[in-house]
Amino acid sequence: MKIGIKFKLIAFTGSLLLVVILFLSVFVLNGIKSYQDKEDEAILFKQKDMFEQYFSERSSLGNNGTRDKAELARGSIFNKPWLRTIPASVYDTKGELLSGFKVDGKLNENKEKNTMIEYAMQGKVSFAKKDGVIYFYSPIKYKNGIVAILELEYSVKESALFYDNIKKMFYGTGFAALIFGVILGIIYFFNLTRDIYIMKDSVENIQRGNFHKIQLANRNDELGELSKGIVFMSNTIEKNIEELKVERDSLNNAIDKLKKMDKEQKEFIGNVTHEFKTPITIIKAYAELIGMYENDLCLINDGTTNISKECDRLATMVDKVLNLSALEKYDFEIRKKEVNLKEIIDEICARIMGKIKKNDLTFKSNIEDIIVTIDEESLRHVIINLIDNAIKYNRPSGSIDIECHKNGNKITIIVADTGIGICKEDLPKIFEPFYRVESHRSRETGGAGLGLALVKKLVEKQQGTINVDSKLNEGTIFSIEFSI
Ligand code: ADP
Repeated sequence: MKIGIKFKLIAFTGSLLLVVILFLSVFVLNGIKSYQDKEDEAILFKQKDMFEQYFSERSSLGNNGTRDKAELARGSIFNKPWLRTIPASVYDTKGELLSGFKVDGKLNENKEKNTMIEYAMQGKVSFAKKDGVIYFYSPIKYKNGIVAILELEYSVKESALFYDNIKKMFYGTGFAALIFGVILGIIYFFNLTRDIYIMKDSVENIQRGNFHKIQLANRNDELGELSKGIVFMSNTIEKNIEELKVERDSLNNAIDKLKKMDKEQKEFIGNVTHEFKTPITIIKAYAELIGMYENDLCLINDGTTNISKECDRLATMVDKVLNLSALEKYDFEIRKKEVNLKEIIDEICARIMGKIKKNDLTFKSNIEDIIVTIDEESLRHVIINLIDNAIKYNRPSGSIDIECHKNGNKITIIVADTGIGICKEDLPKIFEPFYRVESHRSRETGGAGLGLALVKKLVEKQQGTINVDSKLNEGTIFSIEFSI
């Protein structure tokens, strides 16, 4: 069974107080007792000495030479009242009572009287205490001889009463002191143990990781220092755990990122393999056909056109794949310089205008004259890709709208078309490499689903963002935002 420190401390204090009180009581009471005994003895001896001296003075007078010494002793007691302060009796040397003086006139009840008288006859003094009375027997000597025996009956009832009172007082005050001491102990140890329990709880809370529940025992002693130490320790552990958590989280994030990258890379390689296989298969098939039908001019014409088309597709794909993986793997070197956005976009539009017209599309532009520090090559690549898509996925007689304006420290470039649009489910995926909404149509237009992935990477490399909004069969709006 576990006994709490509070109970142990109170029990210890109680026991200690009890031992101290008992020891003090025994010590003091014994002292009083022995003092009283010595006092009584001294009184009795003094009485005996006075009697003996008086007797000796009387015996030395010449007129009593014939008289018996014991008779003289008997008379001595009654003649002198000051010798009668203590009840006394005189016995002759044969043990016969000669005379006595008693307060109440009774003979004494000492049963050992005879033995004690015999002792006195041998010249020895003896005491016996009974019922609050000391019986004292002493020989009365004259000129080296015993002439009578003196018996004194000294009542010690008063001093016994005094002793009893003192004893009661000791026990009473001792008991009160014990109760008072235990109550004081309970109050003091309650406070002390409360602080110890605060520290115990704090340690348990540290074990459970409840650092917010740690309490400080406000004391100016060693326990206070211990409590401060626990709080300090708890703060340090909490800080270390927090740091470890942050490290673990960032490690987990890094692992997740690596896993994602690994997955993306595998998908990317799978897609690359797949996308490259198609044009190679077509090229191989045409080459075999031309080999088989050397004289078929129509086939040869068709074959060379298709082989050249697929080669172009392959070249564009290789270019984009290389660009993408370069952006992915290396810290792409951004060569920023001050450029006029209007000049660049106008120039691109002028170059692409033939294609726009060829597709019977209307073109509108609203571009502010903005000077911006940016990587020109990347910007050209992004805008060309977006306009190219706006042409490819437009509808006959549709239109393309380009806007560029500045708002505070933000520059927004918008490329909108009135084309086929993209459905909601596909919108988040179009920036993934090799993702095509309608692969057969995209393939017809020569796309491999790499353009937007490249655009997104280039925009993000320059701390920009790209967003898309589209409605199926109504059109698509790409908006790019850069901070300056
Ligand atoms: P691709 O080279 O095949 O055009 P992109 O990465 O440029 O590849 O585009 C991915 C897909 O997003 C395309 O296959 C097409 O389905 C869709 N898409 C891109 N731009 C538009 C647009 N302006 N309108 C409609 N669909 C578009």
